[in-house]
Amino acid sequence: MDCIFCKIVSGALPASKVYEDEHFLAFEDIHPKAPVHVLVVPKKHTPKLPDFPDNAEGQSALGALFATANRVACDTLALDGYRLVVNVGERGGQVVFHVHVHIMASFLH
Ligand code: 5GP
Ligand code: ZN
Repeated sequence: MDCIFCKIVSGALPASKVYEDEHFLAFEDIHPKAPVHVLVVPKKHTPKLPDFPDNAEGQSALGALFATANRVACDTLALDGYRLVVNVGERGGQVVFHVHVHIMASFLH
Protein backbone atom coordinates (compact mmCIF):
# COMPACT_ATOMS: atom_id res chain seq x y z
CA MET A 1 0.00 0.00 0.00
CA ASP A 2 1.30 3.44 -0.91
CA CYS A 3 0.90 5.01 2.52
CA ILE A 4 3.74 7.00 4.10
CA PHE A 5 2.69 6.25 7.66
CA CYS A 6 2.30 2.49 6.98
CA LYS A 7 5.87 2.61 5.65
CA ILE A 8 7.03 4.34 8.84
CA VAL A 9 5.17 1.75 10.94
CA SER A 10 6.79 -1.11 9.00
CA GLY A 11 10.24 0.49 9.17
CA ALA A 12 10.48 0.94 5.39
CA LEU A 13 10.76 4.72 5.95
CA PRO A 14 12.74 6.27 8.82
CA ALA A 15 11.17 8.45 11.51
CA SER A 16 12.24 9.95 14.80
CA LYS A 17 10.18 7.72 17.09
CA VAL A 18 9.20 8.92 20.54
CA TYR A 19 6.83 6.11 21.63
CA GLU A 20 5.81 2.67 20.43
CA ASP A 21 3.59 -0.12 21.69
CA GLU A 22 1.75 -3.03 20.12
CA HIS A 23 -0.94 -0.88 18.50
CA PHE A 24 0.44 2.66 18.22
CA LEU A 25 3.50 4.58 17.12
CA ALA A 26 4.40 8.21 17.86
CA PHE A 27 7.08 10.11 15.95
CA GLU A 28 8.19 13.67 15.31
CA ASP A 29 6.49 15.55 12.48
CA ILE A 30 8.97 16.08 9.64
CA HIS A 31 7.80 19.69 9.17
CA PRO A 32 7.00 20.84 12.73
CA LYS A 33 4.45 23.63 13.06
CA ALA A 34 5.19 24.07 16.79
CA PRO A 35 8.28 23.62 19.00
CA VAL A 36 6.87 20.23 19.98
CA HIS A 37 5.05 18.49 17.14
CA VAL A 38 4.52 14.75 17.39
CA LEU A 39 2.16 12.50 15.42
CA VAL A 40 0.41 9.50 17.01
CA VAL A 41 -0.75 6.85 14.56
CA PRO A 42 -2.51 3.51 14.93
CA LYS A 43 -0.37 0.77 13.39
CA LYS A 44 -3.45 -0.56 11.60
CA HIS A 45 -4.19 1.49 8.48
CA THR A 46 -7.41 3.50 8.70
CA PRO A 47 -7.67 6.44 6.27
CA LYS A 48 -9.82 8.94 8.16
CA LEU A 49 -11.30 9.44 11.63
CA PRO A 50 -14.91 8.74 10.52
CA ASP A 51 -13.76 5.41 9.07
CA PHE A 52 -13.73 4.08 12.64
CA PRO A 53 -17.14 2.39 12.84
CA ASP A 54 -19.61 3.88 15.31
CA ASN A 55 -19.86 0.67 17.30
CA ALA A 56 -18.11 -0.76 20.34
CA GLU A 57 -15.06 -1.83 18.36
CA GLY A 58 -14.64 1.54 16.61
CA GLN A 59 -15.24 3.49 19.79
CA SER A 60 -12.68 1.37 21.60
CA ALA A 61 -10.08 1.96 18.85
CA LEU A 62 -10.79 5.69 18.91
CA GLY A 63 -10.60 5.82 22.70
CA ALA A 64 -7.30 3.94 22.68
CA LEU A 65 -5.87 6.38 20.11
CA PHE A 66 -6.68 9.39 22.29
CA ALA A 67 -5.60 7.64 25.48
CA THR A 68 -2.27 6.94 23.78
CA ALA A 69 -1.95 10.55 22.60
CA ASN A 70 -2.54 11.72 26.19
CA ARG A 71 -0.01 9.23 27.56
CA VAL A 72 2.62 10.34 25.03
CA ALA A 73 1.96 14.03 25.74
CA CYS A 74 1.92 13.73 29.56
CA ASP A 75 4.37 10.91 30.25
CA THR A 76 6.74 10.59 27.28
CA LEU A 77 6.97 14.28 26.42
CA ALA A 78 6.27 15.52 29.99
CA LEU A 79 3.97 18.29 28.72
CA ASP A 80 1.48 19.96 31.03
CA GLY A 81 -0.25 21.84 28.24
CA TYR A 82 -0.74 20.84 24.63
CA ARG A 83 -3.11 20.72 21.69
CA LEU A 84 -4.46 17.53 20.14
CA VAL A 85 -5.54 18.07 16.53
CA VAL A 86 -7.04 15.72 13.98
CA ASN A 87 -7.50 16.96 10.44
CA VAL A 88 -10.29 15.12 8.63
CA GLY A 89 -10.56 14.98 4.85
CA GLU A 90 -9.00 17.21 2.23
CA ARG A 91 -11.27 20.11 3.14
CA GLY A 92 -10.27 19.60 6.78
CA GLY A 93 -6.59 19.94 5.93
CA GLN A 94 -5.77 16.23 5.94
CA VAL A 95 -2.82 15.46 3.67
CA VAL A 96 -1.79 11.99 4.83
CA PHE A 97 -4.70 9.56 4.70
CA HIS A 98 -3.69 7.36 7.62
CA VAL A 99 -5.39 8.50 10.83
CA HIS A 100 -3.10 10.51 13.09
CA VAL A 101 -3.38 12.80 16.09
CA HIS A 102 -1.11 15.85 16.15
CA ILE A 103 0.35 16.70 19.56
CA MET A 104 1.51 20.29 19.50
CA ALA A 105 3.01 22.34 22.30
CA SER A 106 5.16 25.37 22.84
CA PHE A 107 7.52 24.16 25.53
CA LEU A 108 9.34 21.11 26.79
CA HIS A 109 9.93 20.90 30.54
P1 5GP B 1 -2.25 16.19 8.06
O1 5GP B 1 -2.27 17.49 7.33
O2 5GP B 1 -2.54 15.01 7.14
O3 5GP B 1 -3.12 16.18 9.29
O4 5GP B 1 -0.80 16.04 8.62
C1 5GP B 1 0.19 15.29 8.02
C2 5GP B 1 1.48 15.62 8.73
O5 5GP B 1 2.42 14.63 8.39
C3 5GP B 1 2.08 16.97 8.34
O6 5GP B 1 2.21 17.78 9.50
C4 5GP B 1 3.43 16.61 7.71
O7 5GP B 1 4.45 17.50 8.05
C5 5GP B 1 3.69 15.22 8.28
N1 5GP B 1 4.46 14.35 7.39
C6 5GP B 1 4.27 14.16 6.05
N2 5GP B 1 5.14 13.27 5.56
C7 5GP B 1 5.92 12.88 6.62
C8 5GP B 1 7.01 11.97 6.73
O8 5GP B 1 7.45 11.33 5.78
N3 5GP B 1 7.56 11.83 7.97
C9 5GP B 1 7.09 12.52 9.06
N4 5GP B 1 7.70 12.31 10.22
N5 5GP B 1 6.06 13.38 8.97
C10 5GP B 1 5.49 13.56 7.78
ZN1 ZN C 1 -1.36 3.65 6.30
